[in-house]
Amino acid sequence: MTLHGTYDKDNIFAKMLRGEMPCVKVFEDDVALAFMDIFPQAEGHTLVIPKDVKARNFLELKPKKIGPYMERVQTVAQAVEKALKPEGLRIIQFNGAPAGQTVYHLHFHILPVREGDTGRAHASGTPTDTEELQALADKIAAYL
Ligand code: 5GP
Repeated sequence: MTLHGTYDKDNIFAKMLRGEMPCVKVFEDDVALAFMDIFPQAEGHTLVIPKDVKARNFLELKPKKIGPYMERVQTVAQAVEKALKPEGLRIIQFNGAPAGQTVYHLHFHILPVREGDTGRAHASGTPTDTEELQALADKIAAYL
């Protein structure tokens, strides 16, 4: 997949938004959905996706949608920080396969970083157990 292309309405995040695919939700309103990454690069790895858009990446998001969406990204990041108290946080977003993007519905990663933690590989490995993810989601949601 390149930087440019047609939005696939059946990408996995679009399916989650339609309730056709499960995810462990952290936050949801009319602007965004946040859920736990199933292949976390660190404990508490959370994804925030915009609703009601056909943006494959950040470049395609309509300007009027950016503000409300980024507010949700910040709100969820603040809750992750309060709940898990990492020493650092990475807020990451990839555009196009060469940049590391693997799912083509715009999303921001919120990645807690602990002192000395080198993290795990991106979008790979064994899916994390739903119960484990749910416990983290509950902790984060308590601050939302
Ligand atoms: P990207 O590589 O596009 O920046 O990020 C996609 C993210 O989605 C990756 O971090 C990957 O682990 C995550 N992911 C892939 N498939 C699933 C899934 O089925 N459920 C959840 N919750 N996350 C997924």
